[in-house]
Amino acid sequence: MCFCVFAVGRSVSWMELVMNLSPEEIRSLNDRFETEHPGRILEWVSEMFPVGSIAMATGFGAEGVALIDMTVSIDKGIPVFYLDTDVLFPETYKLRGELEKKYGIRIIRYATNITLAQQVELHGEKLWERNPDLCCNIRKVEPLREALRNYSGWITAIRREQSPFRANAGVVEWDKKFDLLKINPLAAWTKKDVWKYIAEHDVPYNPLYDKRYTSIGCVHCTTPVGAGEDERAGRWRGFRKNECGLHLAEPLTAQGRDNQ
Ligand code: SF4
Repeated sequence: MCFCVFAVGRSVSWMELVMNLSPEEIRSLNDRFETEHPGRILEWVSEMFPVGSIAMATGFGAEGVALIDMTVSIDKGIPVFYLDTDVLFPETYKLRGELEKKYGIRIIRYATNITLAQQVELHGEKLWERNPDLCCNIRKVEPLREALRNYSGWITAIRREQSPFRANAGVVEWDKKFDLLKINPLAAWTKKDVWKYIAEHDVPYNPLYDKRYTSIGCVHCTTPVGAGEDERAGRWRGFRKNECGLHLAEPLTAQGRDNQ
């Protein structure tokens, strides 16, 4: 394992190194990785992080499956996990099984302890129709917080061009919200890059993409998009909401409907 990228001439533990990356060091890593292939970035991750200290999160989108294929081909020891809201599409659960079978991995499930029935008791019926931020916080953000307690870094499949909130994503970032290193190997990739990779590597993907879905989350908050619509226009349709909160620095606040 080589730590020389950060600390020349002194011996440091990987934990000390990761926890003490300066903004300049993170900037330098971003300069270095900006034009690198994501696979090369994952090779670096595999060299830098001891087994089990960094994990990849996936929502089983097109980017996520491409990244699983890359990650597994480089280092099968990097854990892959997902957040089960209990209301993902049947196609998504089926895809999870296909990926596990194809790559010989187990994709770790993290979820809230609050069942859908308990959520109704606590917050009423169909919370996602009244306060999707609260619902996302319960079913996604807090389970992610629990998941990330097990790691010192996480790998995500976000791309800059997906949304204005993601436009400034670095390849390497300090995640202030969850207090660990965040690696976004696909930050600079385009949608075309992702689908080219999927086709060339015969990666299983969610069949909903062939039915005009362009971003896939929970059943209740995802719709197909029309011609010319934004990639994430089908998510939380009718609300001024574009993110579930996993990649936002600030906590979610209740966002109103579009017409309010
Ligand atoms: S996407 Fe919708 S159903 Fe899923 S957690 Fe968020 S608000 Fe709830």
